[in-house]
Amino acid sequence: MNKVTKHDLNKHNFSGGPGVLPETVLEQLKESIVAVPDVGLSILGINHRSDWFAVVVAELEENIQNLLGLPKDYHCLFLQGGATQQFSMVPMTLLKGKTQSAEYLQTGYWSNKVIAEARREGPVHVSWSGQAAGFTRLPKDEEIEFNPGAPYLHYVSNETVEGLQFHRIPGRDDVPRICDMSSDFLSAPRAFDKFSMIYAHAQKNIGPAGVTVVVVKDELLKDAPRDLPAFLDYRAQIDARSILNTPPVFSIYVVLLVTRWLRDSIGGLAAMADLNMKKASALYRAIDASDDFYCGRVVKEDRSTMNVVFNLKTKDLEHQFLASAQEAGFSGLNGHRSIGGIRASLYNGLQLSAVENLIDFMENFKKCHS
Ligand SMILES: *Cc1c(COP(=O)(O)O)cnc(C)c1O
Repeated sequence: MNKVTKHDLNKHNFSGGPGVLPETVLEQLKESIVAVPDVGLSILGINHRSDWFAVVVAELEENIQNLLGLPKDYHCLFLQGGATQQFSMVPMTLLKGKTQSAEYLQTGYWSNKVIAEARREGPVHVSWSGQAAGFTRLPKDEEIEFNPGAPYLHYVSNETVEGLQFHRIPGRDDVPRICDMSSDFLSAPRAFDKFSMIYAHAQKNIGPAGVTVVVVKDELLKDAPRDLPAFLDYRAQIDARSILNTPPVFSIYVVLLVTRWLRDSIGGLAAMADLNMKKASALYRAIDASDDFYCGRVVKEDRSTMNVVFNLKTKDLEHQFLASAQEAGFSGLNGHRSIGGIRASLYNGLQLSAVENLIDFMENFKKCHS
């Protein structure tokens, strides 16, 4: 049995979030906790109004715009409150007082949460729901019921809990698209200029908890209300360049290091997507070749490259699997508390070798238990 030692736990962290980060980033952080090179101060004690931090924010904005290939009419914000705050900020800005409903796709656990928050602010129309089918697939374009006068369409690109991912961009180009990309942001290239807003907290794929990246097209905000609390007002945040109040300096710095790693070590989003695809297809292949010892939870065409969700025959066998995996040095493989089962999250920072070790472990476990 390919026993993974405890020493390798960090490399074999399959957690759904906070997720694994690249080792070279962790090494740089270790140093910066004591003193950031060129500054001499600990990252935990650098003032957010310093020249150094202004440069950090400017470089991060630029790195994200370049990685996404966005034109100049987008702004990049680094906010607090997690993705959950965006569930409310979006409809507070674009839906309050509207008579036309916003369109929402109901594709899993996280879009359920998004929709509940939007309903507090204004009228919502669910354009498609996968609830009756237990969230095991995503809609085809022709199944989505659309009002072309809708203020926007919101969807979740990767349903982290169920392991469902859109491999295309749904919606219509004449209705602004808003997307929660929290669990697959910067994992693959897309036509990002088809979105009016993208938001993603850092703690799944691009950093630690504490910061949420918001990319917004200027035009979307032209009729935004002026009476929102400043903290919840995208325009006020843009004017303040994300430093309206004390921002999470450390978390923002980590995201900067991750974008540098993506650019310099990985070589951009296309190269990242290749790697992510290699990891996911190896694991799905192993699941499919297991004669239903391991059973994928969702239909093949909508499988996520980020979160591979599967079951074993019984709850008892799943418990044994998780216990043996933990003992072998794999962590974070338990499914989300809402649905149980097994979830292997293969975020950007997780290496192919970790997936290969997991596959070895799964094959051995199967041999011992079939
Ligand atoms: C984890 C997750 C969230 C929740 O984000 P918070 O930052 O904890 O508010 C929202 N959306 C998606 C897709 C997620 O995976």
